[in-house]
Amino acid sequence: MPIHVLPDTLASQIAAGEVVERPASVVKELAENALDAGATEVNIVVEGAGRQLIRVSDNGSGIPAGEAPLAFQRHATSKISTVDDLNSIATLGFRGEALASIASVSRTHIISRIEGEASGVQLRFEGGKLLSQQMIGAPRGTVISVENLFFNVPARLKFLKTDTSERSHITRLVTRLALAWPQVRFRLHFDNRLVFQSSGSGNMDEVLLDVFGLDIARQLIAVPPTESPEGITVSGYISPPSLSRANRREITLFVNGRWIQDAKLNAAVTQAYHTLLMVGRYPIVVLLIDVPHGDVDVNVHPAKAEVRFRNPNAAFSAVERALRQVLVQRSPVPEFAPSQWQPPERDPGSLPPTWSSLLVPAEAAPLPFAPQPTRPDDSPIPPLPASEATQQPLPTPEIPLMRVIGQVGAAYIVAEGPDGLYLIDQHAAHERILFEVFMEQAQHQEIASQVLLQPVTVDVPPDAAAQLFDQIDTLKALGFEIEPFGPSTVKVRSLPAVLGNIDPARAVRVVIEDFEEDETPFESEREAKIVARVCKRAAVRAGQVLTTQEQAELVRQLERCDSPRTCPHGRPTMIHLSVDMLERQFGRKGAR
Ligand code: ADP
Ligand code: MG
Repeated sequence: MPIHVLPDTLASQIAAGEVVERPASVVKELAENALDAGATEVNIVVEGAGRQLIRVSDNGSGIPAGEAPLAFQRHATSKISTVDDLNSIATLGFRGEALASIASVSRTHIISRIEGEASGVQLRFEGGKLLSQQMIGAPRGTVISVENLFFNVPARLKFLKTDTSERSHITRLVTRLALAWPQVRFRLHFDNRLVFQSSGSGNMDEVLLDVFGLDIARQLIAVPPTESPEGITVSGYISPPSLSRANRREITLFVNGRWIQDAKLNAAVTQAYHTLLMVGRYPIVVLLIDVPHGDVDVNVHPAKAEVRFRNPNAAFSAVERALRQVLVQRSPVPEFAPSQWQPPERDPGSLPPTWSSLLVPAEAAPLPFAPQPTRPDDSPIPPLPASEATQQPLPTPEIPLMRVIGQVGAAYIVAEGPDGLYLIDQHAAHERILFEVFMEQAQHQEIASQVLLQPVTVDVPPDAAAQLFDQIDTLKALGFEIEPFGPSTVKVRSLPAVLGNIDPARAVRVVIEDFEEDETPFESEREAKIVARVCKRAAVRAGQVLTTQEQAELVRQLERCDSPRTCPHGRPTMIHLSVDMLERQFGRKGAR
C-alpha cells in the first residue's frame, strides 16, 4: 500500500481511542467541561451502563451559539492559546480533544445557551458528522447527550466490561469529583435511579458522608493543610490504621483539583502507614495536593490522568510527611528497643516460660489473657450435620489422623500425628472447614439462612451499593436476603445462619468490603469469593479458648476437608514438625 494520509474521520476515531476508553471516560470529560464552565450543578444520567445514553447537564457559562460547531473540532479550545499557557494550566481541560473525540464515536446531541443570548443552540452529530443545527429555547448552561457510544467502533464495544463494572467506574469517578469539588452539587442517575448525590454546600464533612457513608466517614482523620519547603500543600482525609482495605482503590489523589493516578505518590501514602498496616492492606485516603502551576506538567496523558512533577521527590516527601505527622500524633509508632527488653524472671530449673504459661492443659480454666472464654451453650464449632458425619465414608484424608494435645496461645492447636507434631492455626483451619461445608451446601442449594425478626436497613457507600444491587441473586443463593432501599441503602431480611447473631450492618460489610475493581465475570468465582469472606468472619478467632472437645472436633473436621492444608485465602492452616526434624534439632541425629 502506498503511503497516504488517513481520512479525517478515521484519524479522529484513532485519536478518540486515547481519550474515550469506556463510558466513564465520557462522563469524566463532560463533567470536567462543566466544572471548567463554572457550573455549580452537574447532573449525570446514564442508561444501559453508558452504552445507550450518557447525558451531562450543567448550569455553567454555556457556549456561544456561533462557536458551538467549532467546539466539536479537534484541537479547538477556549482554555489556552499560546505555548506559554501550557505552563500554567488552571482548567481541567486544555487539549480541545474531548468533544471531537466523543462525537466521532457516538451519536451526540448538544443544547447550550450563554447568559445574554435570547435562545440556545442545538447541534446533532453522528459519528462526528454534523447533521443539524438550529436555535432553541433553553436555560443557561449546557446539556450534552451521548447515545450509542462506540456504535461505529465495534472493536471498542467488545472490550467493555460487564455492566456492573462499567457502572462502578462511573460511580467512582463521580464520587471522586464530588470530593474534589465540594461546592458543586453532583447528581448521578442509573436508569432512572438516583445512585449518588452530593449537597454542593461546600462542607467537606458532608461530602465525605455522601461518598463513604456514615460508618466510614466518621472514622476518617483530617489532614490539616501542610506546606512543604517546595511550596507543595497537602490536605485531606485519611483512615486510621484500624480501617483498611485489601487494595489501593481507595487511595484518591488530586493534584490541583485533577484526579490523577501516580504510582509514586501511592507509594508515599503506603510508606506513611509503614508498620501501622499489615502487608497487603491499604488505607482509605483522599488527598488534595496543591502544586505551583509551573512545577507540574499536566500535558502527559491524553486522558490527563497522569501528571509529571518537576521535582517528584519533593512531592513524594510532602505527601509522606503530611500523613505520617497526623498518624504518629494519633498513635505513636511502637518501636522495639532491645535495651528495654528484660528476660522474664523464672525459677531456675523450671520450664521455659513460653511453654509453661502458654500450653493450655485441655481441662484448665481459661487463661487470664483470653479475651472471650467460650460458653458451653455457644460452642463455636458446631458438629457437622448428622447425615454427613455418619453416613458418608471418610474420604481418604490428605493429612494423617491426629491426636489433639492442647492449645497454645489460645490460637494454635497442638496435635500429634504418626510423623511428629502439627501446629494448627485454629482460625485458618476453621475458615477452611466452613468454606467447604458452605460451598457444598451452596451446590445443593441448601444453605441455612436465618430470617431477622425485623428487616434492618443498612447504609452503604454508593459505589459499593451499585455492585451489591447487581449481585442480589447470587447473595440470595448464599443466604443473604437483601433488597435495594434507596440509592445507597439496603434492607436486610435474612443472613446465612453460619454468621450467627452478627449485626446486619457488619454482615453487609463483610460482603462488600473487598469488591474487586473488575470483579470476575464468573458467577461461581464471585460466589466463592463472597463465601470465603463470610467464612473468615464466622470462623473462630485467634484468642478464643477452645475446650478439648472443640479442639478435637475442629481437627476431625479439618481431616475431612478436601484441601485441609490451606485456608480459602491461601494461607497455611498448619505447620508440621516432623520427628526427623525434632531429632535433628535436639542433636540426636546427624549432629556428629
Ligand atoms: P477542552 O476542554 O480541552 O477545551 P473540549 O473538547 O472538552 O476541549 O471542549 C471544547 C470547548 O468547548 C471548551 O474549550 C469549551 O470552550 C467548550 N465547552 C465544552 N463543554 C462545555 C460546557 N459544558 N460548558 C461551556 N463550554 C463548554
Ligand atoms: Mg474538555
